Amino acid sequence: MPKEINCDITIIGAGLTGLVAAFYFTKAGKKVVLLEKDSHSGGVINTINEDGFVFEAGPNSGVLSHSEVFDLFDDLAPQCTLEKANKESKKRLIWKNGKWNALPGSPVEGISTPLFSLYDKFRILGEPFRKKGNNPDESVAELVLRRLGKSFLDYAVDPFISGIYAGDPNKIITRFALPKLYELEQNYGSFIKGAIKKKPAPLPEGAKKPTREVFSASNGLINLVHALENSIYKQNFFFNSENISVTPKDNSFATSFFQNGDDYTLNSEKVITTVGAYSLPSILPFIIKEQINQISNLEYAKVVQVALGFRKWNGIKLDAFGGLVPSVEKRKILGVLFTSSIFENRAPLGGAMLSVFMGGMRNPNAIDLSDNEIIKIVYTEINEMLGLQGAEPDLVRIFRYAHAIPQYGITSEARLNRIYMIQKQYPGLIIAGNIRDGIGMADRIKQAKTIADSITGR
Ligand SMILES: Cc1cc2nc3c(=O)[nH]c(=O)nc-3n(C[C@H](O)[C@H](O)[C@H](O)COP(=O)(O)OP(=O)(O)OC[C@H]3O[C@@H](n4cnc5c(N)ncnc54)[C@H](O)[C@@H]3O)c2cc1C
Repeated sequence: MPKEINCDITIIGAGLTGLVAAFYFTKAGKKVVLLEKDSHSGGVINTINEDGFVFEAGPNSGVLSHSEVFDLFDDLAPQCTLEKANKESKKRLIWKNGKWNALPGSPVEGISTPLFSLYDKFRILGEPFRKKGNNPDESVAELVLRRLGKSFLDYAVDPFISGIYAGDPNKIITRFALPKLYELEQNYGSFIKGAIKKKPAPLPEGAKKPTREVFSASNGLINLVHALENSIYKQNFFFNSENISVTPKDNSFATSFFQNGDDYTLNSEKVITTVGAYSLPSILPFIIKEQINQISNLEYAKVVQVALGFRKWNGIKLDAFGGLVPSVEKRKILGVLFTSSIFENRAPLGGAMLSVFMGGMRNPNAIDLSDNEIIKIVYTEINEMLGLQGAEPDLVRIFRYAHAIPQYGITSEARLNRIYMIQKQYPGLIIAGNIRDGIGMADRIKQAKTIADSITGR
């Protein structure tokens, strides 16, 4: 007989979304159980501290784009501290014709930058007068070509989409991936007019204003994970859970799973999934194949991240956030983050810590390369791009992600509609995680808090 457990809320997946939701449920006095297939929580977040270097295996930093991020760090204080990026790392570099160029931060810099063509610089003056688009499924590339021009697509938007989504701007649909940009055109007829006229959305009383600043947790994102984990009762985590399967009952759910040789059944009124789309068919077997396929067909970018640590840095000055490589430049890396310039204590004094990215939708096969092949490519590219003159790193670690970043492409509308219909048909079931509502860590925190608040009535 399976062991029976009763709780208020079952959460499947103990990544950032699951942990934040569980934290707020626990705070509100609800009994929550987290089922996780791995032996640890945090999902793709993991900070490693090795030989004087501190580096991330997964996400490196988030953007303070939602007030819920500030709230979370306030709620977790003093267990972990929000760390904002150093002001000196504000500059973003773009690779063009064999050298780095700073992405313009002002209209004056926009005139002088070699990144964009003279034609497009003049053409942008007409952007406020250009007709509004009427194709809701327009890709980011189509939108940018229509309103701004090819050099803006090639040397600003393509590397930006690559840096955030590891994606292809021809396949990413603007209204799902960049809803704020889409709304700017739809509501104001132009990006420029919208940027001038748009008033920030009113914030709840006392809420901190979202910004474009970059954040981590002091000494790495794992400290955010640990703080969350420590605020949730230990006995409510079931790590190494296998064969998780949800069955709807009258007004509730029975979730069966197997852990360390024992079978369990969890009875709860609510079930929240935070796992990737590809895990849903086995977890929700009562949803017919044609319907669940509309969710599980979500495509993911595959990403290889290579952490490089140098005890003594002899390359170019790393006075920027990092550099992105446009696809038209045909290089073998997507970009590089200057991690030790962004955050404190990431490398020994005089040294440097970098994170290099390969693969993405541009080159999905990079994930299949051997470690030696990856290292050879990264050394060759970094050596030239960062002026290393053959100096080799003192630390190299490679991390591969087969399902790194979901691509909000043409199937998004069908996926979101199907999620909505399933949730309506089975009240109490919530299909969450980065398959909807944004892919960044700030989006995950906001989604989790919103779900918790809606259930606890806060
Ligand atoms: C390489 C990389 C770099 C990134 N860089 C950034 C960045 O710089 N900035 C930013 O804001 N975001 C970044 N992201 C995205 C960000 O990390 C994620 O959006 C966020 O961490 C996802 O959290 P999550 O809890 O929704 O999902 P996950 O972290 O994927 O957690 C899901 C959890 O569910 C578990 N699970 C899966 N299947 C099952 C199953 N069948 N049964 C039980 N458990 C299961 C998994 O083990 C995992 O613990 C990056 C992501 C990657 C991979």
